[in-house]
Amino acid sequence: MNKKPRSGHATFYITTPIYYVNDTPHIGHAYTTVAADVLARYHRALGEDVFFLTGVDEHGQKVAEAAAKTGISPKEHVDKMVVSFQDLLMKLNISNNDFVRTTESRHQETVKNVLMALWKKGEIYEGVYEGWYCIPDERFFPEKDLIDGKCPDCHREVSPLSEKNYFFKMGKYQNELRKYVPIPGFIEPSSRRNEILGFLEKPLGDLCISRPKSRLSWGIPIPFDPDYVTYVWFDALVNYISMRGYDGTPSSLKGKWPADIHLVGKDILTTHAVYWSTMLMALGLPLPKKIFAHGSLLFVTRGSVWR
Ligand SMILES: [Zn+2]
Repeated sequence: MNKKPRSGHATFYITTPIYYVNDTPHIGHAYTTVAADVLARYHRALGEDVFFLTGVDEHGQKVAEAAAKTGISPKEHVDKMVVSFQDLLMKLNISNNDFVRTTESRHQETVKNVLMALWKKGEIYEGVYEGWYCIPDERFFPEKDLIDGKCPDCHREVSPLSEKNYFFKMGKYQNELRKYVPIPGFIEPSSRRNEILGFLEKPLGDLCISRPKSRLSWGIPIPFDPDYVTYVWFDALVNYISMRGYDGTPSSLKGKWPADIHLVGKDILTTHAVYWSTMLMALGLPLPKKIFAHGSLLFVTRGSVWR
């Protein structure tokens, strides 16, 4: 079949988020994956070359905790859990072109290269983190972001924390990002774009991208400090370029990047629109053409509930 040339780059690239393997798949995973599959099949039907990526996120504290609970190693845990996600793809007849596991060396090597490049460019620095930590979310929050002393995201209890860590200079990209977000089509729907614009009204802090091994050893080692592993979100977001063969040079992504669509749930829009966008800016890479944040599908029955 003749492939229609597309303007700008050769391949229509669509992604789902990589799913977190601390638990079994649920209807929300099926929803995002089916939606992405429909888009991938539609673009193939138009005669376009399509690359559809999905996969799993296997690092982080929740995985380590889930493994400890059942008395097995994190690696044994993820090897077991990944099967149920792969089964889901089979059952739903999903047409993905690749499947990423963040424990694979092809991903880990790219994350280390990205960290090293940003460290050498001075985009990452050593600092002391003092603030609050939400264990279920694996996220740090400064005091001012807490709501009634609780996690602003999930409203659960947070714990005080003070430790040496590494930070990515996310804050310096605030103005650039504020100019970028209003570009039509970048973040959809418009209600979600407005959420991000609202988020960017407040000062944007730097991002803590490390975890001390003394507290969490299950992660990708920080290449310039053996006592630390990479924050799971920083690691996970890199999958979108590691699976396209990024080797640190823009030419390695020729025709393969930027993504046409990152399909995400609304709960992970900020990490994609803000963390990922600024990481790409620091790397000197173009931003995805579109980040589409959908609502949550809670269950399926007559008159399904959406919110
Ligand atoms: Zn939380």
